[in-house]
Amino acid sequence: MEGESCSNYYECPVVRAYEEGKIDGEWIRMYCERNWRECARFQLDEIFSYSTDFVLPDGSVEDRLSR
Ligand code: SF4
Repeated sequence: MEGESCSNYYECPVVRAYEEGKIDGEWIRMYCERNWRECARFQLDEIFSYSTDFVLPDGSVEDRLSR
């Protein structure tokens, strides 16, 4: 539902990376807590049941997300 956090919030490597101080909290505020439908990760997961650890919500790649 609109206004709620992404259903992947508690499992997502992007959120984990934010909690570990690796990426800016703006990603979380912009996507995970608001526009998660627009998130490239969310869409990949929905459409292809596929997720990569290093894709940010806008579809760009962040190496620091890889484990
Ligand atoms: S990065 Fe995307 S898939 Fe992950 S929690 Fe945020 S909105 Fe959901």
